[in-house]
Amino acid sequence: MIKKLINRLLGKDDSDDSPEPLATQPNVIGQATHGIDPGLISRNAVRVTDTLQQAGYQAFIVGGAVRDLLLGVAPKDFDVATSATPEQVQRLFRRARIIGRRFQIVHVQFGNEIIEVSTFRAQVDAQDSEKIGAHRPKRGELDRKTHVTDQSGRVLRDNVWGTQKEDAARRDFTVNAMYYDPATQTVHDYHHGWEDIRARVMRMIGDPTTRYREDPVRMLRVVRFAAKLEFSIDPATRAPIEALAPLIDNVPAARLFDEMLKLLLCGHAWPCVQRLRTEGLHHGLLPLLDVVLEQPMGEKFVALALTNTDTRIRAGKPVSPGFLFAALLWHLVLEKWRAYQTSGEYPIPALHLAMNDVLDAQTEKLAIQRRFTADMKDIWGLQSRLEKRVGRTPFRLLEHPRFRAGYDFLLLRCESGELPPELGQWWTDFIAGDNAARESLLAHSSTGAAPAKRRRRPRRPRNKGDASENAAEPVSSVQRDTGSSS
Ligand code: ATP
Ligand code: MG
Repeated sequence: MIKKLINRLLGKDDSDDSPEPLATQPNVIGQATHGIDPGLISRNAVRVTDTLQQAGYQAFIVGGAVRDLLLGVAPKDFDVATSATPEQVQRLFRRARIIGRRFQIVHVQFGNEIIEVSTFRAQVDAQDSEKIGAHRPKRGELDRKTHVTDQSGRVLRDNVWGTQKEDAARRDFTVNAMYYDPATQTVHDYHHGWEDIRARVMRMIGDPTTRYREDPVRMLRVVRFAAKLEFSIDPATRAPIEALAPLIDNVPAARLFDEMLKLLLCGHAWPCVQRLRTEGLHHGLLPLLDVVLEQPMGEKFVALALTNTDTRIRAGKPVSPGFLFAALLWHLVLEKWRAYQTSGEYPIPALHLAMNDVLDAQTEKLAIQRRFTADMKDIWGLQSRLEKRVGRTPFRLLEHPRFRAGYDFLLLRCESGELPPELGQWWTDFIAGDNAARESLLAHSSTGAAPAKRRRRPRRPRNKGDASENAAEPVSSVQRDTGSSS
């Protein structure tokens, strides 16, 4: 015991002389071994663990933050796990809010930073679930009975409070199940996560098939982490994915959307999407994305859009999810836009009809939130207007609130080979130029000089509000099949 204490004070790894098997006692890794840079740790997270520990509770930084710290990467956020219940946590902090119903957690706020504090939970096995089922409140009772307890006082919901060891076992991957104690600078590891970090491998805790069935989102998570961290996936963890991939269909759309956002905004979106394809997981995510990716032009466009996004994210620049989804679905819009024009529709209404068709097909599976679909429509809607450079339209477009996003999107289209590069360059010059330069660019823009022939408008019921919004605009001179005529 004394030897252990001295080892810890010296920061030595005392795991080797641990008398207990790892399943019962964690491997405790000292600072000298794990080498975590204290400079990467949020002071607020340490404040939270200190306060909880001083009040007599166990408290650790946990999950992805520990994983990232062990990899020498600054974590994007910090989670804390504790033996204190949410109410006990809340009493200790001035700005703390209990959130969630199914999984209660506490958000402790310090300025802009939120530290998420969760109570150690235990995995509920099937037998326990049935027992709990008998106690579970009916719908409508949920709000009043947030805490349903058994005889021993454990909280019974979908989860029960548990020990640190139980908490570790219900986490998904070994590298996500480590606990860091800032006071002793030690990492507590129950599932050989430290070895897997060093071997750079994603490994499921427990039986992978059972764990994917419990929560199919774990299939997306393993792909995201493997692509983001450049880890391999342990063969046993990978093997069941192909057969279980259809279970993704049972995941509620809102949760799927959240997971898609995490994937697209993790700074490694393009490798993630490629990996989803390798694992056969892309089918259920964005319906028809597989179709897009199978066309060379579509794939090139998505690859460009996602790599640009990844570069921006890694440079700490903001990205717009609306822009990303607009890019992912653009080639479907394009295909339908062309089809509507072939059937005689004017370019602008044709574009709006195509946009509506594509969005209708997506929203059922993936609950793309309204604020994002509004952005997507703006960005797509600007495309036909950016292609024509006549009259005062380019000046008006400069004032459009989404002009920048629409222009960036146009540049992607040029870069992918869909439109001639001159069109993007024209806009770049137009933006940079003074008034005289802009007038001269307009004068030399052949789109202004040679408007295309009007096509005959077919008869059709006018029931799409969006399509009529821009229908009064002059007809674009751009022939879709040949790109811009500049
Ligand atoms: P990120 O860098 O994306 O935040 P993370 O590992 O922190 O990665 P979170 O979604 O923030 O991921 O979850 C925090 C921790 O909660 C995880 O590290 C893992 O231990 C646990 N966890 C999250 N989702 C699941 C899940 N679906 N099943 C089991 N454990 C999970
Ligand atoms: Mg996290």
